[in-house]
Amino acid sequence: MKPPQQNNRDPKSTQKASRKYSRLIRYGVSAFFILLGIGILGFVALRVGYFTAGRNSTVDKPVTDVLNMADQHKIKTVSISGNEILATGTNGQKYRAFKEDGQTVTDIFRHDGVSVTIDSGQSDQLSQALIDLVLIVLVVGSIYFIMRRSGIGGHAAPFARSKARRFNESRPSILFNDVAGVEEAKMELEEIVDFLKQPSRFTEMGARIPKGVLLVGAPGTGKTLISRAVAGEAGVPFFSVSGSEFVEMFVGVGAARVRDLFKEAKEHAPCIVFIDEIDAVGRQRNNGNAGGNDEREQTLNQLLVEMDGFDRQTNVVVIAATNRPDVLDSALLRPGRFDRQVMLDKPDIRGRLAILEVHAKGKPIESDIALHELARQTAGFSGADLANLLNEAALLAARRSKSLISMPELEESILRVMAGPERKSRVITEAEKSIIAYHEVGHAIVMRSMPGTDPVRKVQAIARGMALGITVQSPAEDRYLMRRSELLAKMAGAMGGRAAEELIFGDITTGASQDFEYVTNIARRMVCEFGMSPLGNVALKVEPDGSTSIGPETAAKIDREVSFLVEQAYTTAINILRERKDKLIAISEHLIQVETIDGTELDAMLFAA
Ligand code: ADP
Ligand code: MG
Ligand code: ZN
Repeated sequence: MKPPQQNNRDPKSTQKASRKYSRLIRYGVSAFFILLGIGILGFVALRVGYFTAGRNSTVDKPVTDVLNMADQHKIKTVSISGNEILATGTNGQKYRAFKEDGQTVTDIFRHDGVSVTIDSGQSDQLSQALIDLVLIVLVVGSIYFIMRRSGIGGHAAPFARSKARRFNESRPSILFNDVAGVEEAKMELEEIVDFLKQPSRFTEMGARIPKGVLLVGAPGTGKTLISRAVAGEAGVPFFSVSGSEFVEMFVGVGAARVRDLFKEAKEHAPCIVFIDEIDAVGRQRNNGNAGGNDEREQTLNQLLVEMDGFDRQTNVVVIAATNRPDVLDSALLRPGRFDRQVMLDKPDIRGRLAILEVHAKGKPIESDIALHELARQTAGFSGADLANLLNEAALLAARRSKSLISMPELEESILRVMAGPERKSRVITEAEKSIIAYHEVGHAIVMRSMPGTDPVRKVQAIARGMALGITVQSPAEDRYLMRRSELLAKMAGAMGGRAAEELIFGDITTGASQDFEYVTNIARRMVCEFGMSPLGNVALKVEPDGSTSIGPETAAKIDREVSFLVEQAYTTAINILRERKDKLIAISEHLIQVETIDGTELDAMLFAA
């Protein structure tokens, strides 16, 4: 893709040249479309015989009638073109007749004193050929033009100009109401909306408004949608560009495009710059590589330069989206850059119902019950999957000539979306959901039963990030020191998931591997760093490069102590759950129904008499 000569070019001159080029192209494009329009109009007019409208007053007659009239000297002239005879009467009236193939009429007319002109038909054929030629040129031209635009064949013009599309500059179309089931994200973005609406109110207070917001979420969770809704709510222009576009470009052009994008954005401030798939440019820079001249890196540097260049008066908010926050370069996440992160989770059952309701608007659905039922059956679906699902169902119903979309169509569409080429998520089966729910509630109950642990904020039995479920604990205050008892409590809480599986199902799943990693890590640090084991108050560290002063005997002792601590944590967890098995069952079954419960609800159920 990269023509070698582009590499030596000074980016500035490339930019200038391409500016001129792009202006030329733009004029060419307009001219082309105007010509295309005229050509098509002309062609249509010719085809419907607009230019031969004079014939409209012509009267059709059988050929014998015309011959009879000629015999009666009522015909002045005829013009014969192929089998078509156009006659002009002495009174000026025009007649048209068609003779048979091979029938000779010329002599008869001449005999009757009519002046005859033979039209060999060549001029007609010629004009027909011309019309067809014009048509062919138009079609070929359009195909060539489309191909150039999409970069097939020929060199794509090295556009330095940002292709950022601008949406709803004056009348915002998408609002927060169109985005459902992500209330937390909306709340976090509300502040950005307020700022964009009335920047002066914030700047007068000397407040520093976040320049960058990073939206993190799986594909189809509504990152693009909610960004546009922020612009819509604030009524500001929305500039959007995708990170992957930068990577495809010639050297030096990506950075130039970033510059242009921000220049234009500043001219239209307050506004939003949306960078989709930022991981494509913002990937961790590999330190080992001395090159450093790579297109992606230059683009990333330019982006950082632009964001650092914002001052208090720059009312531009950059929103970036990614589903891979883990690969992002840490430079992007520094204060003053994308220091705000907003998570967009896969929706829980309430969220799914809300999203389905948004997209069911204007679609005739048999009953509300259908939507509830649908929300129940689609655990694991993203917002995009749900929108897709309703669309499929509407198509199916239409094909079946039904007036309402009903359950059979909806259920069939679930399968279609899952099997589709764009399949991004899968449905979590009822059996899986049940295991996930018991696992998470197991964590939550053990955490709440151990003294001195942080309160549980949320328990969820729905995919979030990589994990299938989650139990969120929020520390009551910042902690710098941890007591031994607290560490033990944390370990027991982390073991609660596996313990619940074992206790309820008598079988265990792969779902606890992260828990084990977490517990083992704490245990090892207790032994090796914190002096919290019978091995005593010694530092038994292994350096990052693997070197250590620990002998094999000590290493074996460490392993024994670590596994003792881990097993102890497990025993604590399972004992707590055995004691509260009825609560475990009641809360888990409730969680299966609602998919999310918050800390207050958990406590109410757990500590109820
Ligand atoms: P992402 O950018 O996260 O991949 P999009 O914003 O492009 O996802 O979402 C694709 C489509 O899915 C949206 O245009 C919308 O129709 C639907 N969608 C996704 N999330 C939601 C939501 N929370 N509420 C309503 N519709 C949604
Ligand atoms: Mg998107
Ligand atoms: Zn777990």
